[in-house]
Amino acid sequence: MNLILLGAPGAGKGTQAEKLVNKLSIPAISTGNMLREAIANGTDLGKEAKKYMDEGNLVPDELILGIVAERVAKPDCANGFILDGVPRTLAQAEALEAKGVRIDHVISIEVNDQDIAQRMGGRRVCSKCGASYHVVAKPPKKDGVCDSCGGALIIRKDDAPETVLKRLEVYHASTEVLKDFYAKLGRLRIVNGNQSIEGANEEILKAIGAKA
Ligand code: AMP
Repeated sequence: MNLILLGAPGAGKGTQAEKLVNKLSIPAISTGNMLREAIANGTDLGKEAKKYMDEGNLVPDELILGIVAERVAKPDCANGFILDGVPRTLAQAEALEAKGVRIDHVISIEVNDQDIAQRMGGRRVCSKCGASYHVVAKPPKKDGVCDSCGGALIIRKDDAPETVLKRLEVYHASTEVLKDFYAKLGRLRIVNGNQSIEGANEEILKAIGAKA
């Protein structure tokens, strides 16, 4: 099963992707995590991407499409994958279609902008494996430490309030249009993200016809 998770920054895509990985036994592909890893490793891609990410802007389509095409071709994607945070523009969605990347369901996790802005203050991510946490909604077992890999939890630089506003603006201007694109293809499933993590997860599983 090939899935796309759509939604504004902070809607819960990363958290739901982690739950779906366990439930469906297919990998999650987060372009945001891949780019942050490239930055941490000081690669050319990382250096190029950082300029855009720090400002809350999107990284150019051609850079994204290269890393996604390479990743979905890996053997662990043979039974399916979850795209988290990609596609983010019409050009990216069209390029995936043109490459013949089959998509079964596109899940749009909906949260209003005011709630997003509030949520982002509590978000923490693992500096090593990219796992998502929230100080209230999803605290780690040990303060500041990742449950999965023991890495240090950090606040993302682009979660600063002014950058969050910019990212929301970019979402509405460039990404939200993908809902129409996939609705026309009959693949869009809307899920309410303004509820508990478990509640949203149950809705997603129902929407894709999987058992809770
Ligand atoms: P995320 O972790 O998904 O919130 O992504 C963090 C940042 O990485 C975004 O604000 C963009 O700058 C960049 N990014 C991640 N995925 C994409 C994508 N599919 N297209 C363009 N930029 C992306």
